[in-house]
Amino acid sequence: MPTSAPAPNGAHPATSAHSHSPIGRYLRALHDKYARLEEGTVATYIPELGRARPGWFGIAIATTDGQVYEVGDSRCPFTIQSISKPLVYGLALEAHGLKTVLHKCGVEPSGEAFNSISLEPTTGRPLNPMINAGAIAVSSLVPGATAAERELRLLRHLGDFAGRDLVLDQDVYRSERDTGHRNRAIAHLLRNAGILTGNPEDALDLYFRQCSIEVTCRDLAVMAACLATGGVNPVTRQRVLAPISVGRVLSVMTSCGMYDFSGEWIHTVGMPAKSGVAGGILAVLPGQLGVAVFSPPLDARGNSVRGIRVCTDLSIDFGLHLFNTPRVVSPALRARHTAATRRSRRRRVASELATLAHHGNRVRLYELRGRLIFATLELAMRAILEEAAAATHLILDLERVIDLDRAACRLLLDLRETLLAQGKQVMLTGLAQHTVLRDYVVARLTEDGWKDLCRHGARDDALELCEADLLRASTLPAPQDAVSALQRQELCAGLDEPSLRTLASLLQPQSHPAGSVVVHAGAPADSMVFLVDGEVEVVIHDDGGHSHIVGRLGPGMTFGEMALADRMPRSAAIRTHTDARFLVLKFEDFDQLPGRGQAALHARLIQNLAAVLARRLRDANAEVLSLR
Ligand code: GLN
Repeated sequence: MPTSAPAPNGAHPATSAHSHSPIGRYLRALHDKYARLEEGTVATYIPELGRARPGWFGIAIATTDGQVYEVGDSRCPFTIQSISKPLVYGLALEAHGLKTVLHKCGVEPSGEAFNSISLEPTTGRPLNPMINAGAIAVSSLVPGATAAERELRLLRHLGDFAGRDLVLDQDVYRSERDTGHRNRAIAHLLRNAGILTGNPEDALDLYFRQCSIEVTCRDLAVMAACLATGGVNPVTRQRVLAPISVGRVLSVMTSCGMYDFSGEWIHTVGMPAKSGVAGGILAVLPGQLGVAVFSPPLDARGNSVRGIRVCTDLSIDFGLHLFNTPRVVSPALRARHTAATRRSRRRRVASELATLAHHGNRVRLYELRGRLIFATLELAMRAILEEAAAATHLILDLERVIDLDRAACRLLLDLRETLLAQGKQVMLTGLAQHTVLRDYVVARLTEDGWKDLCRHGARDDALELCEADLLRASTLPAPQDAVSALQRQELCAGLDEPSLRTLASLLQPQSHPAGSVVVHAGAPADSMVFLVDGEVEVVIHDDGGHSHIVGRLGPGMTFGEMALADRMPRSAAIRTHTDARFLVLKFEDFDQLPGRGQAALHARLIQNLAAVLARRLRDANAEVLSLR
């Protein structure tokens, strides 16, 4: 029993590990919210327990992949007490099989207090393993030839759940042994009914020892997570219970774990749970996570007052009610990219590509998918936060998300705020279809807040914006003469000064204001265009008469050059996005180059065209691949 408060390693022992996580922040706020709650009384019927401080308060959450979030006195040791009961029940099931165990103890909720002396009238069996009578009967089933062996087996079993070696709190053990007259009475009744055979003091002593095992709130969270995974300790990866036993353990926790509060608990909180008289509560959301709270003041039914409040809040805020949670969860992170590995559909010239390859790491694109709920989003957020330090721009794309619950909405917005506070640019894209998110954002922020959140549109638009930010620093001023304009053209790579001058002499300059259609789809092609300044959009029209922008081009790029190769009609329309300046090359002039002694220039342009088209095809292949 710790007598010096607070916990040995400070009030917020593991805060720094996830201080940037919305979950860490949430837990701290939750801790603050209930730290001042002064209801309930510390148990004193075991005298040694009376030394606990009412102010001790820790919360921990462990995920099914072993991540632990903890706050407050999460490393403060206390005795496990009744929380040992479901775990020892699991041990008995595995050692003897269900039939034998059922013979000694039923699985019906009693609706009575933990220390009630209620045995089935005909069989003398305790009603369930969560009340003391049942737990004492179950303790008698712990295998081992001697008392010492049985104790060791117990400690090892619970230690496997915690992922570390556990010890007894000898003071609490002695205190309980010397004053546990009611439990002693129960043990003797069980002996009388033939449920215990042999000396009832032996089972009783092991039961007292099992209750006096020292744990922390963090331990309990990991133990709970062992049940959430179906029996594998997520930290040590050791199997601690067979899946079939996990189901049985969780069932009795569901119906009986919170004594005569069990019905209301499962109705409101919706997680199988077990409380202990030293102030611990362990709760499990199968498939998602384990929760633990430590706070000694208890209510009249022997459950931690703060523990109940914390679990209730967690369940509501994160959508953790067992019967309200989808069963199947698939990872939320479909893919992650940087601007170096994934570009927008905007075509880029070689110098821009070099800049993006070099600085692209600062832009991170995360494609989320499937159903976003606490468990799936938690995992994705962790990956995002781990990488955030190196990033200046983060795009979270929800295009492929099927749906998300309110907990996910909340975490997403919290994540966005966390990242914004770190000075990052955060763009959420693909939001349009998510009405749940819309409603949440409107309620939390405003209608305008929602519009603002949606302003980046689709993933590709956001990616292009980020690229523009990266490229801005290295953008050159617009060229003034034709030769320097041509020098920046990807199609002119490798041309010497005289060739550039020859080419320039063939070109006609044109300027167009923003919004002009400069090429119509289907029109015959007789020239191609070098874009000198400004931006144009490639537009296609679908059968329904809607137009779609499929690409944007900027200075240094060409359009209409595909027809240089095949002379086919225009495949798409081109519209100026800004005021734009062009240099136009007539195919007629191009075709005459070899006849005028410019065969080398002609060949070089064809070769460059092939290179440009090849690169575009590679990009298209990469995109098709990413769509799988
Ligand atoms: N050791 C305690 C007892 O038997 C356990 C009770 C509990 O935690 N609710 O009284």
